[in-house]
Amino acid sequence: MVRQRTKACDRCQEIAPVLYRVRLQPDQPWQFVCPTCWPQVSQGNPGYTYGGTWKAKK
Ligand SMILES: [Zn+2]
Repeated sequence: MVRQRTKACDRCQEIAPVLYRVRLQPDQPWQFVCPTCWPQVSQGNPGYTYGGTWKAKK
């Protein structure tokens, strides 16, 4: 069995192979969101900050 790094989306709790590191407000901690949830947190949010992409496979 192959060990694989996994991480879950902080919004929908789904395990995703790619997650985006984002901050919803400047004074809040970083969260990881999946590509499905990403538009919901980034669009129309002036406090949104993008902090990189996390991938299960490097
Ligand atoms: Zn999600």
